[in-house]
Formats: sequence, C-alpha cells, structure tokens
Amino acid sequence: MSKKIQNFVDGQWVEPTTSEWMDNVNPADTRQVINQFPASGTSDVDRAVEAAKAAQPAWAKVPAPKRGAIMFEAHRLMKERVDEIAEALTREEGKVLPEATGEVHKTLNLLEFIAGEARRLNGETIPSEIPDTFAYTVKAPLGVVALITPWNFPVAIPVWKIAPALVAGNAVVLKPAEQTPTTARIVTEIFAEAGVPDGVLNTVYGAGETVGAHLVDHNDVAAISFTGSTDVGLHIYAEGAKQNKKVQCEMGGKNALILLDDGDVDLAVAAAAKGAFGSTGQRCTATSRVVVHEDVYDEFVEKIVAAAKEVRPGDGLDPETSMGPSVDDRQLEQVLSYIEVAEEEGVTFELPAGRYEEGDLEHGYFPKPTVLTGVTPDMRVAQEEIFGPLLSVIKVSSFEEAIEAANNSDYGLSSALYTRDVSRVFRYVNDIETGILHVNNPTIGGEAQLPFGGIKNTGVGDREQGKTAVEFYTEIKSVYIDYAGEFRGGNLY
Ligand code: NAD
Repeated sequence: MSKKIQNFVDGQWVEPTTSEWMDNVNPADTRQVINQFPASGTSDVDRAVEAAKAAQPAWAKVPAPKRGAIMFEAHRLMKERVDEIAEALTREEGKVLPEATGEVHKTLNLLEFIAGEARRLNGETIPSEIPDTFAYTVKAPLGVVALITPWNFPVAIPVWKIAPALVAGNAVVLKPAEQTPTTARIVTEIFAEAGVPDGVLNTVYGAGETVGAHLVDHNDVAAISFTGSTDVGLHIYAEGAKQNKKVQCEMGGKNALILLDDGDVDLAVAAAAKGAFGSTGQRCTATSRVVVHEDVYDEFVEKIVAAAKEVRPGDGLDPETSMGPSVDDRQLEQVLSYIEVAEEEGVTFELPAGRYEEGDLEHGYFPKPTVLTGVTPDMRVAQEEIFGPLLSVIKVSSFEEAIEAANNSDYGLSSALYTRDVSRVFRYVNDIETGILHVNNPTIGGEAQLPFGGIKNTGVGDREQGKTAVEFYTEIKSVYIDYAGEFRGGNLY
C-alpha cells in the first residue's frame, strides 16, 4: 500500500495547497508504486519560505555548539535506522543495497564531521595597524537558504547541504528530487526529531520547474545550493545572479581514469568496472572515459570486457544483483540515445548494447553495460555526460597525450591516474583539470572531511563537504574596535 508523503512546513506535515500528487515508483519494477508525494505549487513554497524567515533569527541566536549538538543527535537517530534508510533508498533509486548502505554510512560521517565543525565556527583575530584597535572577523548566517538536490545520492546530498546550513545558523527550504521523495522524508524526519526547531527546516516536494524555480526566484531566499545537471545549474546560477543571490552549483562530470604503461592493469580494471558500471553509471564521479597507454591497451580492453560480462542486473534488494536500474525512463532513454550516437560516430561496441528485457527485467529500466573502443577525445560519447554504464576507451601513446585527452572536456569533477612513477604522479596533480584527484584509486568516492566539487562546467561557488562546507552558508564580518578613547582621524588608508 503506497502512502501519501506530505510537505514539512513550520514543523508540521501538511498537504500541498494544490491537492495534487505524483507517484514514487520503483525503477527496478515499475509495477510497484512505493508512495505518492506532493506536486506542490508556488504558494507551498511561499508558506515554507515565510516559516523559515520567521524562525531564522531565533535559530541564529542559538550558540553554534548547541546547533552542533542537534546534528550529533541527528547522527545518533540516523545510525539507528541505517538498514531501513538503505532499503528505502534502493527501492526508490535503484542502487544495490550495499551501495545504498554505503551511502548512509557516508552520510553519518558527514553529519559527524559537520556537527564537530559547530565548535569551530570561528573567525580570525588579525593585528590592526592602528594602536589600541582590536580587529577580528566573525561568521554570520545568510538567512533563508534554498537547497535543490538530485536523486542519485538522495540521502547524502541533502544532508551535506542541510547540516552545514543549519550549523551556520540559517533556516532551510529543501526541494528534493522528484524520483526520491521517501528518503527525503526520512532525512527531514530525523532532523526534526533531533530537535531542529519548527520552521528552521522545511521540505517542499514538487517539480523543478515549479517549486525549484520559484525558490530560486523568491525575494526572501538569500542563497541557493544546487546539485544536479549542468544545464539546470547554469540556468539557476544566471537567475540567482539577477537578484545578487549567493549561488553554489555542483553539476555534471565526465570523469577520466588514466592507465599508463607502468600502471597496475588489474587494479585499473577493477577501479574502472566499479566506476563505470557501479550505481549503473549514475554517479557524478562515475568513470565514463578510460585513457589507456597503447602498451597495455589490449590487456585492459580484454579484462574490462570480461568484468562487464560479470555484471548481474536486477532488483538491488536481491543479494545476487550487482547492478540496479537507471532511475527512470528519461534516464534510460538518455543512455539508449547515446548508443545511437556511438553508432553514428563509428565506435566499436565490445559487447551488445541496449536494454535488458529478459524475464522481470522488462518491468524495470535496465541498460546493458557496454565498453566502447575506437573512441577519440572529441567524439560526443567522450564529451557528454551519459549517466549510464557506457564506458569509452581512448588509446594514447604517452603521458602527455593522456593528460591532454583527459583535460579535453568541459567538465572537471574527478579523475584517476594509475602509475607507479612518482614524478608522473606529481605532474598529474599539477596539470589535471579536476577538483578531485585519485592516484591508484577509482574516480568515485570521497571522504567527509575533504572538500568535494569540481571546476570548469562542473562547479561554481564554494566547495561542499570538509571544512569549506560552512563557507558557502556564511558571510564574513570584519570588525574594528577602537579602545583608545580619543578621535584619531580614522584610518587614512
Ligand atoms: P537535474 O538537474 O535534472 O535536477 C536536479 C534538481 O533540480 C531536482 O530537484 C530538480 O527537480 C531540480 N530542477 C530541475 N529544473 C529546475 C529549475 N528549472 N529550477 C530549479 N530547480 C530545478 O539533475 P538530476 O537528473 O536530478 O541529477 C543528475 C545530475 O546531477 C547529473 O548531471 C550529475 O552529474 C549531477 N550530480 C552532480 C554532483 C556533484 O557534486 N557535482 C553530485 C551528484 C549529481
């Protein structure tokens, strides 16, 4: 029996003013409607922003360590519900249960780290050039912030935005992705139960073009943190700029793994398989290009094709399954459309591409994992984010050519290098154009205490996660206190 999820506004679960609902469907078996959730309208956004605006000043006065204590309580509550949350995640997003459990554990790390940062929400004391003057900085909250999130990490991403926003003293309106409302409800519930006061965290469900766009446009929203596609992110960035809002966008990726002639081929194959076919290729840090030195090219291709053949598609709750579905029909169609693009570009399919339709798989959105060879860096399959289990392999003949091929992208999120040569490692760190770099490690993954984000068309604004996470959610005030007791003409400079 599916249930109706409600919006969370001013501490209450409320029906949308539209009285309209959308279906939350299991992408592994579309016959299963898990829940229904609000197709909210602009007046629901207005109510949530109003509640947030009213609640924020009192929240900002709560000492930061006390706000952090609420985050620690959220951590405790989430830890009690790991299995339930992971199962809900698999059911609505599709990723296999071990990946979903991993996401919840990563979320716990994020909460723990940010909760601790509440005790370090400090500014700096800075020496003044004027006698008897004390100069320092403080971090102040922004006010009401809108958080717009995607479906592919529906627990981790909302939390890695909500927690620093709240720790910094802001009030939040969360607009979760349409595909993953159930996990958003659980996340909201946990923060509310942990003691976040009414109105400080609000969740409004609905379409991006309605709820998301109105949040971006709302006069009382001071800042927007967005994660999602580059097209939508750049649009939001431009719209926010018109009102001089602070905007942070984490967007698409086209991440390359480079395997050099001295690299460990087996390690690189394992990493590429996990990065390309894991999570059905639907990670922003997914490995979608492998740049391989010609000396190890044949061995790599043979082994990665063998790894792709091992993939067992199915319902992520089944322990036999190693790859879940695409999240919805639009995402599956996107993957299938790139098969046509690849055909037109004349690349070689090392395995048959298409959609699985055998048995129960016909009821889900299952693309076949495929390895594409004969790919050159300028081809569309090597340039555009596919977000599916299609891996493009590019052959190169030197380290320099490998870096050039990897950098031949509008995106700059993550990359990986497989080599045993330490000087190539440092040259890679200097020359690669990505925000996250891995050496002898897959392109995917990241730890809560390190900044996360990309350059070029992947990211704009302060980095999320790590110590940098709170930067976006604060303004710096520079303070000069003159205790000389006499007027000295002010600072001439
Ligand atoms: P999407 O851009 O379609 O949607 C993201 C969110 O934006 C959703 O909540 C959606 O409802 C909302 N939205 C859509 N149109 C809007 C509009 N006009 N105004 C305001 N909000 C709007 O992205 P998606 O398909 O949910 O997610 C996949 C994308 O996210 C991929 O491109 C992936 O690379 C990216 N991603 C990036 C990171 C990162 O940190 N760089 C992390 C995860 C996912």
